[in-house]
Order: sequence, then C-alpha cells, then structure tokens
Amino acid sequence: MLHITVTAKKPVDPEKDGLGRPYVGYEHGMSQDEMYEANHGEWSIGIRGQKERYALFSFGRTVIQAVEIDSLERTTIYSGNPEEKRDDRYTIHGKILSKGHPVFEKYVGHPSPVSAARNPVRYFDDPQFDGEVGKPCRCGCGEMTNRGDFVPGHDQKAIHERIARIGTVAEFLDWMDVVRPASLHT
Ligand SMILES: [Zn+2]
Repeated sequence: MLHITVTAKKPVDPEKDGLGRPYVGYEHGMSQDEMYEANHGEWSIGIRGQKERYALFSFGRTVIQAVEIDSLERTTIYSGNPEEKRDDRYTIHGKILSKGHPVFEKYVGHPSPVSAARNPVRYFDDPQFDGEVGKPCRCGCGEMTNRGDFVPGHDQKAIHERIARIGTVAEFLDWMDVVRPASLHT
C-alpha cells in the first residue's frame, strides 16, 4: 500500500500549484472530499508505488483517509533550466473509501502503519489487500481475500452459520449422521 503523510493545512499559490489548489494539508474538521482535494497530488511516487491499489493518508501519526487508486497522473516539473533533472510528480485519482469498506475499517482513525520518516511517501505490505485483486471471501461477508477461500477466521464463521441453520451443535450432528452416515461397522 501507498502511505502518504500530509502536513498541517497551509496556503499555496494556486497559480504555481499543478492542481490549482489554494491550500494543501489537513486541519481538524475537514470533510473527506476536502482532504482529497487538498492532498491527492503532486507526489513523488516511485516505481513500486505505481502498482499499489490503495493509498492511505496520515496526519500526526493517525490515518485520516483511504483511497482506492484508479490511476496516477504524471506531471513533469521542469525547473526552467534544460540541463536540470526533471521531476516527475503524480496525482492520485481514485475513490475515497468510507465506513464499511474493509480498508477504511482497518486503517482510518487508527495509528499510522509506518514508522515516522522524512519522506512523506512510503510503501508497506498488507497481504490482506495487496497484490492481485483477489476473490470474495466464501463466507459471503463481501471482503476480498488473496489467500485461500476465506478471510482468516471466516471459515469458522461460515461453518457456525451452517450449524445454526439446523439448530444446536447436537442437532447438527444428528442431522449430519442421517444425511451422511459414518461408514458402517468399521
Ligand atoms: Zn468472510
């Protein structure tokens, strides 16, 4: 996952900002839309970050926003001097996640999953959400899993839901012994 640490809200010159923003950063009370507008660009994102599917934004060591990335738009900033190295910056376009989405539930409002560092752009692994798009958990919860058929622990949930359809565990055993008897006399 991509992890970006944002600054406190501060004014910028909309004429010079690639996204025409009047300010960047975060302040208490901002809506999710305002946070996104202020902070979805222009970041120096390396090769690794370009494959990530989710971006988390943190302020003051707390995750404030989670975005499912649709695309990264590159802007190349030239200093004016043709000899000078170009600087590729990226703007994240995506869907702001909200309550009920497993990535939001796991991270937003919780402590930042990466250690403090000078570079605002970091990457970290979350095997639950990284990699392939995955497939829906067989328990029917709607979460995605990349490993096996179930989100960890949800196989138990699925079994107990089946038992409950029959009744108690004892009633389930009685029912099971009728529909699928143990091999006789072994
Ligand atoms: Zn599940």
